[in-house]
Amino acid sequence: MSHSAATRDHAKKQPDMIQHRQPSREISSTEIRTHGGESAAERRWQDEMADLVTDPQELLDLLQLAPEQLPQLAAASGLFQLRVPRPYLQRIRPCDPQDPLLLQVLPSAAELQPTPGFSDDPLEEANANPVPGVVHKYRGRLLLIAAGQCAVNCRYCFRRAFPYSDNHLSRSQWQQALDYIRSQKDLREVILSGGDPLVMSDRQLGWLAGELEQIPQLDKLRIHTRLPIVAPSRVNEEFLAWFSRSRLKPVLVLHCNHASEIDEAVASALHKLRAAGVTLLNQSVLLQGINDNADVLSALSERLFAAGVLPYYLHQLDRVQGAAHFEVSDARARDLIEQLRQQLPGYLVPKLVREIPAEKSKTPL
Ligand code: SF4
Repeated sequence: MSHSAATRDHAKKQPDMIQHRQPSREISSTEIRTHGGESAAERRWQDEMADLVTDPQELLDLLQLAPEQLPQLAAASGLFQLRVPRPYLQRIRPCDPQDPLLLQVLPSAAELQPTPGFSDDPLEEANANPVPGVVHKYRGRLLLIAAGQCAVNCRYCFRRAFPYSDNHLSRSQWQQALDYIRSQKDLREVILSGGDPLVMSDRQLGWLAGELEQIPQLDKLRIHTRLPIVAPSRVNEEFLAWFSRSRLKPVLVLHCNHASEIDEAVASALHKLRAAGVTLLNQSVLLQGINDNADVLSALSERLFAAGVLPYYLHQLDRVQGAAHFEVSDARARDLIEQLRQQLPGYLVPKLVREIPAEKSKTPL
């Protein structure tokens, strides 16, 4: 089959949801229910995604928090929308405005203060965007921005101002992105990123994995995701099936910042992934008031390991506008890592890194 014929054939097989997806808007429950033949497990996580808490007033009511902060909370949510899955909310202590899980998702007045040295594109990804949907900065691997939204909006997110609408892929742009990947002969690994790629349906993801499997130079498929942490029902049979049976070695890099994020349901989901042969790593972000404490980080590493996950990176915050109040100094970060070395075996001490624009890999601190 000629390349152009193959391309046309791939296009014909491409699921409608990918062709017409609008990542920058809410996933409507009507839209996600249009798939035929989905299992109850598939519908459960999609129902959870269609029922996120997005109303600041509802969040305050559910957690029995004082209403005085509502105006500023609503203003910050206007800049970067409040989004929290209900299973995650259940792990937040009611009546505790300092709960470390709450602080990761609660819009705050501090986000409204512009801070010198912080920007909307701290990693300068716009300069490494050769075709829509592709961020290619590192040798041998690249990011495919597979989805333009997440299940949760983390207030410190470095992509909180990322132009997802420019990277929303039309049918021809999906082909353009795949053609770019085919043309890069030294690539070994594609990293599905976003947003959170696991907001896509398994039908979409299975199609994409099938396309990538046919690119001979690839041998690994990595997914960066927070969804199994915030809504563990996402780890269903359909997902396990397409991900673990791929020719490409499956690697899942989770994003978990605190041991309290891993309840029994999350641990069970992670064990299923391990049992399916998926390599599980975790990256955390060092966040003031949330996990900038050696005992908290140590508990996180132990909890991750008990669930079958190795701590991989501890990131210094990417300096995105609106997140300055989460920043921890490099000196304190190094001191925390030193304390962890004294408390934990080496394989449970994550690498402390910062991502610097134009550097060819993450920079160890
Ligand atoms: S899950 Fe990751 S990409 Fe999504 S909002 Fe949180 S930090 Fe950003």
